[in-house]
Amino acid sequence: MESPVRVLIHGGNGRMGQSLQRLCRNDGRFEPVGAVSRKVGPRVVDGVPQFAASELAGAPAFDVAVDFSLPEGFDRVLGMCLSRGKPLVSGTTGLTDVQQAALAAAATRIPIAWAANFSLGVALLHDLVARAARALPGWNCDIIESHHTRKQDAPSGTALSLGALAAEQGAEPRYASIRAGDIVGEHTVQFTTAGERIELIHRAGDREIFARGALHVAKALHGQAPGLYRVADLLG
Ligand code: NAD
Repeated sequence: MESPVRVLIHGGNGRMGQSLQRLCRNDGRFEPVGAVSRKVGPRVVDGVPQFAASELAGAPAFDVAVDFSLPEGFDRVLGMCLSRGKPLVSGTTGLTDVQQAALAAAATRIPIAWAANFSLGVALLHDLVARAARALPGWNCDIIESHHTRKQDAPSGTALSLGALAAEQGAEPRYASIRAGDIVGEHTVQFTTAGERIELIHRAGDREIFARGALHVAKALHGQAPGLYRVADLLG
């Protein structure tokens, strides 16, 4: 039998990190070798060793790092993957242009997959939005996104990547963000002209879909050559 992929979870005790730890523990294809968080409480949780961000350099050997943290933690996990020559899967949103450039530069040395959204449905939504934007020149394009009140960045990374795709096709996207209750994530891309409107909507009901997608991508990335991989290709 294939040996499990050893996963280091960065952002370990966050909402996404906990979901990743749970999935890894219950799936023989993965071995969670450690979880790194800004601060730690108990040193081991359900058999998974826990590390503080300041201890990252001493984290155990891993095959792939999966990062769902915050922009302030991103540089360090990228640096560690570079120094160990290991792949990075990251879903951290709100990265600065400088961080995005560092990510692209690092991809010449290690395999990297970054996406604002790891759900299969949103990968398809990107294709539909590009198609609609191409077919509807001159229509208004509005992207409305809703998330829970603790989300820090706005517009969401997913809204921005949908908007970037629409803009490539000539649309001029505008954004609206709603922060309410415990909404996991909803994106509506609306194309409007006089007398008619098209709405393309994705609703995430459970953040486990993102964690599942990220682990699927982590397994696909393990053993690949350096490069920046498109998540939509690896999710399929
Ligand atoms: P959260 O606030 O619940 O968790 C953040 C985690 O990051 C915590 O474990 C925290 O300890 C850790 N962290 C913060 N600063 C750190 C640092 N300096 N070094 C190391 N770790 C640090 O957030 P969340 O809801 O789990 O989301 C995490 C990230 O993932 C956000 O950027 C969010 O937008 C993004 N996200 C992406 C997707 C996707 O599919 N790409 C889906 C959901 C969330």
